Amino acid sequence: MLVDSHCHLNFPEFKEDLPDVLRRAKLNGIHTLLTINTRLSEAREIQVIADAHSNIFCTVGVHPHDAQDYASTDLKQQILELAQHPKVVGLGETGLDYYYNNSPAAEQIESFEIHLQAAKELDLPVVVHTRNADTDTLGCMDRDSGSKGVFHCFSGGVEMARAGLERGYFISFSGIITFKKAEELQEVVKYVPLDRILVETDAPFLAPIPHRGKRNEPAFTLHTAERVAELKGVSLQEVATQTTDNFFNLFKKARRPS
Ligand SMILES: [Zn+2]
Ligand SMILES: [Zn+2]
Repeated sequence: MLVDSHCHLNFPEFKEDLPDVLRRAKLNGIHTLLTINTRLSEAREIQVIADAHSNIFCTVGVHPHDAQDYASTDLKQQILELAQHPKVVGLGETGLDYYYNNSPAAEQIESFEIHLQAAKELDLPVVVHTRNADTDTLGCMDRDSGSKGVFHCFSGGVEMARAGLERGYFISFSGIITFKKAEELQEVVKYVPLDRILVETDAPFLAPIPHRGKRNEPAFTLHTAERVAELKGVSLQEVATQTTDNFFNLFKKARRPS
């Protein structure tokens, strides 16, 4: 039993064969999926996917890449409304990406802060995407302190992981930890306590070994969980149990399958 805590099931890569993708996830023991919103214009179609499957939950939010498109809208109000849907269990993905800088930094920061504020009003956790932006990410989190959440697809160093843990955040690892050259990140996996770790695919992106370079899908969460188990020196079963508990501890609005 594993949770894919971050995938994008509404993306065009899954248009043709989503039922098969979901079947393979189940066959591999991935019993719960969280499909992540990146643009509010797609929030409703994600909710339709979540409504059709008792084991799929979703979020509402604007990706930092798209922040500029929502800069002069009533972003907070829209988030507060869209989050009323019963399958919406968190906000995001939001955060800061200074690697691609697809949106200007000022607009990314403004959007991130709006998400943090809305999350506190709604008492929902935040899915944070942060890349090459450690200082500003932590700065926003400290200005709007008290949020709960996860650093998703973590690719930072031990210092950033520690900073997240100190603020009560979880750290989610993706297929990147299976890559041979990811030795630094593998050290971070060893550093983060198992009771603060989530696993994810970020599908359709970033397929783990042995599927690297192909389309990623939720079934492949298993490879990431296996790598976490190896690095921690524990059983896959222990990783599965603990990361599943962690997911439902953080995303409290998500109903656990019986
Ligand atoms: Zn992301
Ligand atoms: Zn994502």
